[in-house]
Amino acid sequence: MPSDAHCHPYYLKDFFSDYEQERRILNIQCAASAFSGVEFLHNEELAKKNDAPYLALCFGFHPQMPAYNLVPDFELFEALVREKRIVCIGESGFDFFDKIFTATEALQQILFEEQLNIAKQFTMPMLLHIRRAMHKIFVYRKKLRSLPAVVFHSFSGSVEEAKAILRCGINAYFSFGTPLLCNHKKALRCVIELPLERLLFETDAPYQKLNGASFTSFKELNKVMEKAACLREESSELLINITDANFNNIFRGK
Ligand SMILES: [Zn+2]
Repeated sequence: MPSDAHCHPYYLKDFFSDYEQERRILNIQCAASAFSGVEFLHNEELAKKNDAPYLALCFGFHPQMPAYNLVPDFELFEALVREKRIVCIGESGFDFFDKIFTATEALQQILFEEQLNIAKQFTMPMLLHIRRAMHKIFVYRKKLRSLPAVVFHSFSGSVEEAKAILRCGINAYFSFGTPLLCNHKKALRCVIELPLERLLFETDAPYQKLNGASFTSFKELNKVMEKAACLREESSELLINITDANFNNIFRGK
């Protein structure tokens, strides 16, 4: 089954009520991120259903939260970790996309360090959102190296940066979504040149929408993977098999 390394089902429901049905029909296992209690509980309900494809529960504080004055619930976060209700911490990281986000750098740093420390303490993987902030990864390379896995969601760095991250000894995976369909040059090169054993694919549904669309849904995953298979001149089956194994390694511990 194809694996979606990053999505937000709770927000997808606002655009498309049959999203979970679509995921079942397409038989897509996914990693669902949440940053609030209400969002997490929604995802947890989905994950409890035995007749649906696997859903990996992730929780973390998004680096854009300080800019939107959203208060992180650390008590909930620590409870979810201690009660083993999540398998991965994220999405977290740094976002310096514009002046408004960059102005919150100090707060982003506090949020990130707190989550990184917990991930290290509980030996958990992290899923990172890094925009115009690749330099920060190298600042934290020692701690990141101690984590079982680090997923770079919608990786926007260059192939050279990806290789430098791997050379640091970080067990890094690089995930790509609809920017591939829009021919983002750096993403194309990464998908062509990085080993398949380091790649993942994602929708970031409902976000990262294609031109003219109002949202992204699970069906875009197949388009993304077909494009990647075409770029790499490999079969879709091989791509699905290896990226599923990567997903299972990170989120299912197998
Ligand atoms: Zn996201």
